[in-house]
Amino acid sequence: MAAKGDNSNKRPGRAARGDRPGRAARTDAAGSPVAELLARSNRLGSDPRNTNYAGGNASAKGAATDPVTGEPAELLWVKGSGGDLGTLTEEGLAVLRLDALRSLAGVYPGVEREDEMVAAFDYCGFGKGGAAPSIDTAMHGLVDAAHVDHLHPDAGIAIAAAADGERLTAECFGDRVAWVGWRRPGFQLGLDIAAIKRENPDAIGVVLGGHGITAWGDSSDECEARSLAIIRTAQRFIDGRRRHDPFGKRVFEILPEPERRERAAALAPVLRGLASTDAARVGHYTDAPAVLEFTVGAEMPALAALGTSCPDHFLRTKVRPLVLDLPPDASLEAVTERLRELHAAYREDYRAYYERHAGPDSPPMRGADPAIVLVPGVGMFSFGADKQTARVAGEFYVNAINVMRGAQAISRYQPIPESEKFRIEYWELEEAKLRRRPKPKPLAGRIALVTGGGSGIGRATAKRLAAEGACVVVADRDAGSAAAVAAEIEPGAGTGDVAVPVTADVTSESDVAAAVAEASLAFGGVDLVVNNAGLSISRPLLDTSVADWDVLHDVMARGSFLVSREAARVMEAQGMGGDIVYVVSKNGVFAGPSNVAYGAAKADQAHQVRLLAAELGELGIRVNGVNPDAVVRGSGIFAGGWGAQRAAIYGVPESELGAFYARRTLLKKEVLPEHVAAAIFALAGGDLPLTTGLLVPVDAGVAAAFLR
Ligand SMILES: [Zn+2]
Repeated sequence: MAAKGDNSNKRPGRAARGDRPGRAARTDAAGSPVAELLARSNRLGSDPRNTNYAGGNASAKGAATDPVTGEPAELLWVKGSGGDLGTLTEEGLAVLRLDALRSLAGVYPGVEREDEMVAAFDYCGFGKGGAAPSIDTAMHGLVDAAHVDHLHPDAGIAIAAAADGERLTAECFGDRVAWVGWRRPGFQLGLDIAAIKRENPDAIGVVLGGHGITAWGDSSDECEARSLAIIRTAQRFIDGRRRHDPFGKRVFEILPEPERRERAAALAPVLRGLASTDAARVGHYTDAPAVLEFTVGAEMPALAALGTSCPDHFLRTKVRPLVLDLPPDASLEAVTERLRELHAAYREDYRAYYERHAGPDSPPMRGADPAIVLVPGVGMFSFGADKQTARVAGEFYVNAINVMRGAQAISRYQPIPESEKFRIEYWELEEAKLRRRPKPKPLAGRIALVTGGGSGIGRATAKRLAAEGACVVVADRDAGSAAAVAAEIEPGAGTGDVAVPVTADVTSESDVAAAVAEASLAFGGVDLVVNNAGLSISRPLLDTSVADWDVLHDVMARGSFLVSREAARVMEAQGMGGDIVYVVSKNGVFAGPSNVAYGAAKADQAHQVRLLAAELGELGIRVNGVNPDAVVRGSGIFAGGWGAQRAAIYGVPESELGAFYARRTLLKKEVLPEHVAAAIFALAGGDLPLTTGLLVPVDAGVAAAFLR
């Protein structure tokens, strides 16, 4: 709904009274072109049928007062480079002078040098110019209409990427929508579309071959209605010709859900290892119905080999996916073996593709690993430098599947030529965008699993590892606290791109296996495990029951053994090395009073560090530990009775226990959960790559617990 009301007198082009000095016009007031543009963008972008994630852009033209001359100025507001229509705000808009932008047509040196025009946009900015203008700015500025939408709807791309798209466009839309043959986005495409609009006064928009749609209108509402009319008409046109089996007859069965997810969890670390040959990748898995249907169709391998179409698609998904050619019931060993062969062939093919098309000025090859892997009857795995990139690559391939289904329904899927795909993938302007990305964080691309992550040291560690760039699985026996910490790490969004909670009792072999499988399904595997789950019971020997002894050894000695064993399986499958960090204790070294069961369990964990460091070194897995002392604050252990017991033993009030522990240290400082998390990060963050089998005290200095 367009916002209207008591602000409607504040028309653009007349600075309203009370404006702040230096502000040209109330461009954001309700009913203004900017307010209408943002509302329309958000509505269009929030429906995935209208455009893919971060795809497309929208614009509005309007008048404002030039603060330098006091004269009116015609402006263009257009979504800037990057960002997503669904969440677009005013900060995401580029603001240009329309007269300057249109003057560029006079100095345009021709299609061979059209990329130079992007730098020229910077000279057309109004004020500070807002966000960086995108390559599509020319199209929005040159088309003579107050409002323009450029979108990537699956239904529109299906017609755009059909073998006879031009004929189908005419059949579907008559002369209401014109056809523009494939042309790379840029200044020339803008000139072409502007000319088409001039020559076809009845047209409401165009289908852009191999790409998407553009629509225009005199008002924001008219533009939006026309965009939606094009998309819905295209969808009805496709639906009317829907094939029973758009991807050919089924040649494989779809595995039933439990087996499917079990197989996916087993394959994810293998695939992640392969996809990380050039650089560490995070994975995403989906078994959405559209994906499963595609993977089992007889025509899937041929369609997949044609690659994706819309420029947005293959920038995210690479030019084509890796496709497994074995049935879902093949043995895991056979599948693993075959995937290794296919991956080697994929890398050779990709290198050949690069060499076929690269010119002397092309950017260097960016890595030859697949971004998308299709496994018949099981689903799709996608990979990226972080979870969001991996997830979005998968979402884009689902868009591509929808496009292929639509194009096959009405005709034959025929994406743009490979040479054009290469030009986009290795476009200097895209390369520049990549170079502008911030330096990755130390743990970017790594997947951590923290047991006992719901409180105290585990919570602080999960938060620290996430802050350093890791994806984190927060495992806790208490589902509520695991979920709370995951939500604390990733407030609001809840996409699971950074943290996911799992409920697991580390004493249970099946719980531990399920938690590690969850890490594989959520992120593709695991490579940084923190054995933190624990509890304490403080009693003299004669009061220590068998139950006391067993529970301490079950949770800490047996629990960390189970977690390490399961994680090492995944790490071996990945072949990417890894880190296992044990949260041991000063009490694993120091013989404190009334502590036989707890101290012995901690000493067991301390020796696991040394034993596993010795055994797992050949897999590149480093095993280290930290020896904290008396971390009272935020501790589930201290709150659960241990604090009261220790306070009674030392003869101090429980509330002063932290201060009491601090007084007896060499540094006279209280140990906080964050200090322990920092030591864990120091061990696993990448600065100590040759350190394994080490225990680091985090106790503010306790001479009796010095290691020797
Ligand atoms: Zn586009």
